[in-house]
Amino acid sequence: MDRVNMEQALGAFGEMLEGQGCSMIVTPNSEIVQNATKNEELAELIKGADLVIPDGIGLVKASKMLGYPLGERVTGIDFSFEALKLLAARGQSAFFFGSKPGVAEKAAEKLREQIPGLIVAGTRNGYFSPEEEAGIAAEIDASGAAFLLAALGSPKQELFMEKYRRGFKNVKAAIGVGGSFDVWSGTLERAPAFYRDHGLEWFYRLMQEPSRIGRMAEIPRFLIKVMIKGRKNAERS
Ligand code: UDP
Repeated sequence: MDRVNMEQALGAFGEMLEGQGCSMIVTPNSEIVQNATKNEELAELIKGADLVIPDGIGLVKASKMLGYPLGERVTGIDFSFEALKLLAARGQSAFFFGSKPGVAEKAAEKLREQIPGLIVAGTRNGYFSPEEEAGIAAEIDASGAAFLLAALGSPKQELFMEKYRRGFKNVKAAIGVGGSFDVWSGTLERAPAFYRDHGLEWFYRLMQEPSRIGRMAEIPRFLIKVMIKGRKNAERS
């Protein structure tokens, strides 16, 4: 993880827009980190990303228990919103790729109302065949967008970005945003402040999408692992 607050993360994003090639931003939570312990490819992807923002409260708590405090939690959705504001101020455009048909368009429409000057160069839903994939990547770059937001869920979005980013000529930064288009479009409700402030966003999501229960079993596994490691570290010191 990068130990960054919102301002520092945005500073890094600004530099990416001016740099060479396409940088990759990932926003893991404890579920994704736990998955990465079993998925070598995903682990390498996270390690190789240019900016790794700790999206989950579990990661921030774990970092404190392990003696490497991360500071604040910067959620992927909040960071992406601020990054879009910066992009709009610079007169550059974004591409919204992912989610069910119609959702990316609706998210773009809602965001244009909130971010003056936001330019969305193109949208594409996140359901496609393997044969269509390379064409979609070419379409994204040809749109002229400087910022790609990929909402395919993890690790699909990270794998897509990693596979195609080196071929991009126009896209300067790409981020995996998970379910953010669903929230921006109004398809899915974001957890109210009470849940967010008390580290219970995961519980609110579970209530909205009970089918996530299987995936969420990774969270207690992650915490148990952290507690064991934390105790070992304490014994050693
Ligand atoms: N999604 C997609 N293509 C797929 C699978 C998922 O576009 O093949 C979209 C889905 O519609 C949703 C988003 O990916 O909008 C995020 O899914 P998920 O809730 O799994 O996000 P995560 O919690 O993994 O970030």
